[in-house]
Amino acid sequence: MPHEVLALLNQPSADAAPHTEGAAPFAFADVAAPQVSVLDLAATRGDGIFEGISVGYGKPQAFEHHLQRFARSARMLDLPAPDLALWRQAVLAAIEKLEPGDEAWVKTVMTRGVEGDGRPTGWVYATRSADFSRVRADGVSVVLLDRGYRHDVAQTSPWLLQGAKTLSYAVNRSVFREANRRGADDVIFVSSDGYVLEGPTSNVVYRRGNTLLTPGPGLGILDGTTQVNVFRYAESLGLTTGLELATPVHLAEADAVWLVSSVRLAVAVTAIDGIAREVDTEFTADLNAWLKALEQ
Ligand code: PLP
Repeated sequence: MPHEVLALLNQPSADAAPHTEGAAPFAFADVAAPQVSVLDLAATRGDGIFEGISVGYGKPQAFEHHLQRFARSARMLDLPAPDLALWRQAVLAAIEKLEPGDEAWVKTVMTRGVEGDGRPTGWVYATRSADFSRVRADGVSVVLLDRGYRHDVAQTSPWLLQGAKTLSYAVNRSVFREANRRGADDVIFVSSDGYVLEGPTSNVVYRRGNTLLTPGPGLGILDGTTQVNVFRYAESLGLTTGLELATPVHLAEADAVWLVSSVRLAVAVTAIDGIAREVDTEFTADLNAWLKALEQ
C-alpha cells in the first residue's frame, strides 16, 4: 500500500462547473507527476485555502470541524463553497488507500483555479506523519513576534483574511527562520497592540491553576480544532476551560504553556524569549496519547 495518496476532485464545488463533464467525482493520481497548471492561482498568487487533518489509527480527527473551517475559509475568500460531502468522501477514500499506521495526515487544498476559468482546483493528499515523538517529549522554545496587526484586525479589516486558512503561508514559514536566528524553535505572534494571538502553525493554550485558557475569540486567529479537543480532554479531567484576552504577562505567569495543532499535537513551551519556564511533562504526554487515539 502507498505511503502517499493523491486524489484530484473533478468538481470541488457544486457552484462551479466540473473539470470533465461526466467524469468520476474524484480520481486517484500519481503524487510524483505534475498535476496543477502553472497558471493556477495557487501557484501564481497563493490564492486558495487548505486544511491539515490528523489521522490517528486510520480515523480523521476533528473531521467535521476541519470541513466547516474549510467552508468558512472559502467564504472569507469569496471562493465557491466546497462540496463538503464530496470532500468528506475523497478524504476517507484517500485514508483507506494509504498504508495503515498509527499516525498520518491529510491535506485538503482548494484553489481559485486558473485565472478567468471560474473552476476551483481541488485535491486531497494523504501521507504518513513524520515522527514527532522528540518534540512532543522535549517541547519548544519560542520567541514572541509582532504580527503587525491589531488584535481587532478581523473586525476592522476583514480583507486581510486573518483567521482564514489560506495557502499564503510564506510569512508563517519566514517567522520560523526568524525564530531560528534568535536561537528559538517556534513563535507566538503578538498583536501590534500587545495581545497574545497564535503560533504560525498552532494555537496557544496555557494553564493557570485548574483552568486551561486560550486567547480568543475574534482575534483574527485560526479557530483551532486541536485546541477544542485539548479543552475537551481538560474538562474530562475536571479542569475548567476558558477564553481570555491575554498579554505576554499572562503567559509568563502561567503554570504551563503549550502550542497545539493537528499532526504535531501538543508541545510544551520550554522558554519564551530566552526565559526558561515550567513544563508539565506528564500532562503533555497523557494529553498527546489521548489526542492520538481520538476517534473524531
Ligand atoms: N493557527 C494557525 C495559523 C495554523 O496554521 C494552525 C494549524 O495549522 C493552527 C492555528 C492550529 O489549528 P488546528 O489545531 O486545527 O490544526
